[in-house]
Amino acid sequence: MYDYLNYIGGKWTGEGLEKIIVKNPATGEKVGTVPIAGEKETEQAIEAAHQAFADWSKRTAEERGNILKRFFELMLEYEDELAKLMTEENGKPYKEAMGEVRYAASFVEWFAEEGKRIYGRIVPGKSENHRIRVIKQPVGVVGAITPWNFPAAMITRKLAPALAAGCTFIVKPPEQTPLTAMRLAELAEQAGIPEGVFNVVCGNPEAISKAFMKDSRVRKITFTGSTEVGRLLMKQGAEQIKKMSLELGGHAPVIICDDADLNKAVDMAIASKFRNSGQTCVCANRFYVQSGIYEAFVDRFSKKVAQLKLGNGLEEGVEVGPLIDQSGYEKVERQVKEAIEKGATCVVGGKGIADDEKETYFFEPTVLAGVTADMEVMHIETFGPVAPIQKYETDEEAIRLANDTPFGLAAYVFTENVSRGTRLTEALDYGIVGWNDGVPSTAQAPFGGTKQSGLGREGGIEGIEEYLEVKYISLSI
Ligand code: NAD
Repeated sequence: MYDYLNYIGGKWTGEGLEKIIVKNPATGEKVGTVPIAGEKETEQAIEAAHQAFADWSKRTAEERGNILKRFFELMLEYEDELAKLMTEENGKPYKEAMGEVRYAASFVEWFAEEGKRIYGRIVPGKSENHRIRVIKQPVGVVGAITPWNFPAAMITRKLAPALAAGCTFIVKPPEQTPLTAMRLAELAEQAGIPEGVFNVVCGNPEAISKAFMKDSRVRKITFTGSTEVGRLLMKQGAEQIKKMSLELGGHAPVIICDDADLNKAVDMAIASKFRNSGQTCVCANRFYVQSGIYEAFVDRFSKKVAQLKLGNGLEEGVEVGPLIDQSGYEKVERQVKEAIEKGATCVVGGKGIADDEKETYFFEPTVLAGVTADMEVMHIETFGPVAPIQKYETDEEAIRLANDTPFGLAAYVFTENVSRGTRLTEALDYGIVGWNDGVPSTAQAPFGGTKQSGLGREGGIEGIEEYLEVKYISLSI
């Protein structure tokens, strides 16, 4: 059992508070507890982060980078323990959890270096006696709210650039998976991140975000989660014009052209669709397959999907774990049922395995063929292991179908023709396009969406800009 307290101002606090009980979604067993903090505890964290900002923001980028590098090394040293904990609280298979720990750590390494390259500019003045200097400075205290589907990476993608830029940071991890966040806080402490620079407050989401929103010392909100909550936070942040980064929902289309490399398209489609049981924001959500390759793709893809092993992610060979909870399960079940009622063919899977007593919810990896645009699965984020496939004829039709959504996070194109691939990738209204690549996300590249998928970018040289203010100094000499 992992029984954690909140981490505020370098102290582990919250003994007397009520607890959130964290359960293993694959077995229903208790994994650990964290306190339910509210406004008061969040105010303490804001005060601690505010106090710490004075020193942390003045340190050199190299000094901050060296501490972050130590944090990165510790994450790798304890990768096995972190991955097991993540599988226990999130359900994703151990191998995937290990992949996430390394991916999460890679952001810490990347931004430890990137902090040294926060360059300003000297611009020619408007007259002989005028000088223009442009410098970049940390925004201040950052309030972060993160989701359960990537318990480590959704934190480090924000924490690492914020700290590298000189900001101090408070995160509210999700109720379902707060334990990985607490273990990260222990490693951060061990790495020498000074008290108050990184704080973790678990608890009531509304109360914690209210405290962030009403305190003018919190200068920036960074959120990953649903579009619905992102919209709410944007409204709340309007009062103080908070700076905001929002990484929200998606509904990724996959276009598979007649000239695609079939084996590659199938393998990449599986990697994109079934990772984390289909519970990722960049998961392939709908497949558009051109008529000339349609039968071959459905056949080969379905055969491979049928071989995926469903179960407890800590067991050998398991490739697809449980869904996070009952409401996630019910949404998947509803979308599959509705598609079949409207005429789709269930080629593989289609059934759920729910145990309401234990509160464990699995859904078989599923392939639906003969899907049409009017089905819910083609419009609303599924967040489950379901691959609906629709046939198309022309590139224009594929682009129209793919862009017909309020979301714009990730899209995928499979073609071996460079001219066609260039045209298609440029026409897709998405922040990320994988061309013959089902898993494009990496620390070196800017990740984020267009339309209602969010604001801002995480990763790449763009990732650190989210935590910097631009100052123009006009000097008359
Ligand atoms: P969610 O929006 O329900 O929860 C995300 C976080 O917001 C959690 O910490 C939760 O406690 C908190 N929260 C919930 N209600 C709140 C409120 N009223 N005020 C303040 N905070 C509140 O989303 P989820 O179910 O945890 O995550 C799944 C969603 O996240 C999906 O839509 C997915 O696409 C999206 N997501 C996006 C990205 C991205 O980078 N774009 C990455 C991962 C997940």
